[in-house]
Parts: sequence; structure tokens; C-alpha cells
Amino acid sequence: MLLTTELSGPRPGLDGLDEVAALADEAVASGDTGPFYQALRASELPYLLKHYRDDPHGLLLATVTALHTIGARSPGLALGVSQHLSSMLAFGIGRSVLSGDDAAGKVVRGLLDETFDRRLLIANTTSQGGGSTIGASGSRIVDAGGAFRVDGHSTYMSLATEADKVVFLTYDAGRNPVGVVTDLRGNPALQVAGDLLFGDHLVLADTRRLTFAGLEVPPESVFGPDPTLNAFYSLQLMCHNLCVAALYLGGGHRILEETAQHGRSTTLPSGEPLSRSDSFAANVGRVAISYTNSLDLILAQAPTFRDLATADVLDAGGVARGLLRVSTAKYTVAKNVETIAAEGRKLIGARTFMQDHPVARIGAEVVFAALGPATEKLIERNFGTRYLEAEGGK
Ligand SMILES: Cc1cc2nc3c(=O)[nH]c(=O)nc-3n(C[C@H](O)[C@H](O)[C@H](O)COP(=O)(O)OP(=O)(O)OC[C@H]3O[C@@H](n4cnc5c(N)ncnc54)[C@H](O)[C@@H]3O)c2cc1C
Repeated sequence: MLLTTELSGPRPGLDGLDEVAALADEAVASGDTGPFYQALRASELPYLLKHYRDDPHGLLLATVTALHTIGARSPGLALGVSQHLSSMLAFGIGRSVLSGDDAAGKVVRGLLDETFDRRLLIANTTSQGGGSTIGASGSRIVDAGGAFRVDGHSTYMSLATEADKVVFLTYDAGRNPVGVVTDLRGNPALQVAGDLLFGDHLVLADTRRLTFAGLEVPPESVFGPDPTLNAFYSLQLMCHNLCVAALYLGGGHRILEETAQHGRSTTLPSGEPLSRSDSFAANVGRVAISYTNSLDLILAQAPTFRDLATADVLDAGGVARGLLRVSTAKYTVAKNVETIAAEGRKLIGARTFMQDHPVARIGAEVVFAALGPATEKLIERNFGTRYLEAEGGK
């Protein structure tokens, strides 16, 4: 395909992508994600890290390709999958932190071994957001002598009923972030809400509230508080932002393709195909330019990740600069995709709202790109503050 050349072509671990994408179409049509997740686990897509241990750049491109492709079927479904894939990307890029013999290195290496052996899927959540006080943590962890105890809730957890394990951030009494890895099922003290958080709006992302009701976790499942880990948490957010941009842009690509197809298959009163009219070509050109620029912007983030992956230590300043950069890329891609969705609807017309047309459905899903994993307003504020603080905006 002309516009996706840089994401196409064979790559290790992507063999099953076409089959998984076809089953994503079926999941959208039936609402049943069972066969999709079965094929996903049987494929190497969730375990790409095994194939790219010494090639973080290859891991990044393969991850972006997988999420863009699934996002073209449903950004919501891809958002669920991205919870696992973006963690794997963060483990691949932040390998200098995780190769150590400290608690974090041991916990994550154990998690990865188990994930690869048992072909698991991992959700993650931060315990923040959604409450009446912005930025407040919804949960806390205390040392209960021999084990740790977690109480409270986390508002947002996608992939909620499919994942086997969850990696979550909670806070200790001193408001320091602490990481916990635990099984997601079979523990009455860990409750996944029956209700979807976003109702009908983003069903396939399977985003739900997680409640910790006196959850006991052994010390070997807990890492932090540790200042060096804060850089890793920011790296994980960088990976999320890149993944979110890629999967929603996949939705944008689908809208562009559907628009082009509409032009080719619709005939003007003159008998000419709509796609031959100059105005339609120019309109499609405008949408295609937004798509191409967005893809270039995503791929332009690769050197930032490569620098972090090849450094001997994960430098907090480098990650902070990287996060700001990747966040602004995600911000621009999210805006472009919303524009692509609005333009696609106008070019195809009212029939986009008939019979679950993919342009209306995907268009409704892409509005979430602006909200997760960091809201537009926060990205604007962060960028504006730093610009104002730096003399001449340097
Ligand atoms: C579809 C979806 C799925 C998600 N899935 C997951 C998941 O699986 N795991 C996970 O960890 N998270 C997930 N998230 C959460 C996401 O990563 C963000 O943490 C979350 O969206 C931010 O919280 P909030 O939307 O409640 O915004 P808040 O942080 O509560 O902010 C609300 C609004 O207040 C404004 N605001 C906030 N702070 C400031 C400030 N300091 N100054 C001025 N204005 C401010 C902003 O305009 C913002 O939009 C998901 C989010 C979405 C939308």
C-alpha cells in the first residue's frame, strides 16, 4: 500500500498479523472477542520482545505496525491490545533499568519469563484519574508485616477481562509511587467491575474499574519506592503515547481507504466515477496529507527511543524530554485523526451512519485518542510552560 510502505514488509514476529486482523473484523461484527484473543495469543504479536531482544528499533517498528493494523479494524480493540504491547515495548526500551539485580529487575524478569512461557496478556493501570480531585491517587499500599496490603481503586483498566495479570502503580504513605505485579483473576480482593467504564462508546477496549479490597501481595511482587524507577514509569508513558498514536492512526487510515473506495465505486450524474472529479481528488488529497504527515511524525520518534534503549543508564532528564516530545507527537496525531474522521464523514455523506458503516464507528472511537493516556490540555500546559520558561523557547 502506497502510504504505509514504511510499516509494511516482513518483520520477525508479524507472521500472524493478517489472521489476527481478519478476526478483529469478526470481533467487530459479532461483539465476541474470544476467537480474536485466541489467535492473538497463538501468534507472536504479544511476545515480539522475544524476537527483538537486541533490536529495540525493530521492536518499536513491529509494535507500531501491529497496532496500526489492528487499529484499522477497531481502535477500541487495538487500545485493549496496546496495554500489553506498550508494556512489552517499555521493557524492551528500558532494558538498562531491568537488567539489574534489584527488586524491579527481578520482578520484571520473572514476569516476562512467565508471560512468554504461559502466553499471558498483561493489563496495566495507574490508580489515578477519574476521581473528584485531579491527580489524586485512588489507592495506597501499606507494609502489613511480611506482606503488603493494597486498598482503594484504579479507575481505568483496559483489556480488563482478557488480561491474566496486571502491573499497577499505587502509592505509599509518603505519596511515593510503588509498582505491583499480581494475577488478575481468582482473587476476591481484586475486583474487576462488571460495568464498562465508557458504556457503549468504546466497548472493545474493555475498560473497567479495578477495586483493591485488602489485596495482599508478597514482597517479591512489589518494586519501589525507588527514584530510578520514576524514569521507567515515564518511559512507559512514552511507549503508551506512541502506541496510542499508532493505533488511532490505523483508524484514520481505514477512514481514508473507505473514502477512496467510495469515490471509486460511486458514479457522478455525468457517468464518470466520483474519484475522477478534481474536487473529490483534492479533498482526498487533504485527508491523505494529514495521514502521511501523522505517520511521518510517529516514525520520527524512533531515534528518541533508540537513544534511551542504547544508554547504559536510563537518564531521568532524557526520558522527561522524550516524554514531552512523544506526547506532543501523539497530541498532533490525535488532532489529525479527528480531522480525518470528520472529513471522511463529510466526503462519504449520510450513508456513513447506515448499517454500522466503519467510518461512523471508527470515527466515534478515535475521539478517545485525545483523552488517553494523557489529556490534550495537560500536554498543551506542559509544552507551554516549558516553552515560556526557556528563554526564546529554546
Ligand atoms: C479509553 C481510555 C482507556 C484507558 N485505559 C487505561 C489503562 O488501561 N490503564 C491506565 O493506566 N490508564 C488508562 N486510561 C487513563 C489514561 O491513561 C489517563 O490517565 C486518564 O485518561 C487521565 O485521567 P482523566 O481522563 O480522568 O483526566 P484528569 O487527569 O482527571 O483530568 C481531567 C481534565 O482536567 C484537566 N486538568 C487535569 N490536570 C490539570 C492541571 N494540572 N491543570 C489544568 N487542567 C488540568 C484536563 O483538561 C483534563 O482533561 C484510559 C483512558 C481512556 C480515555
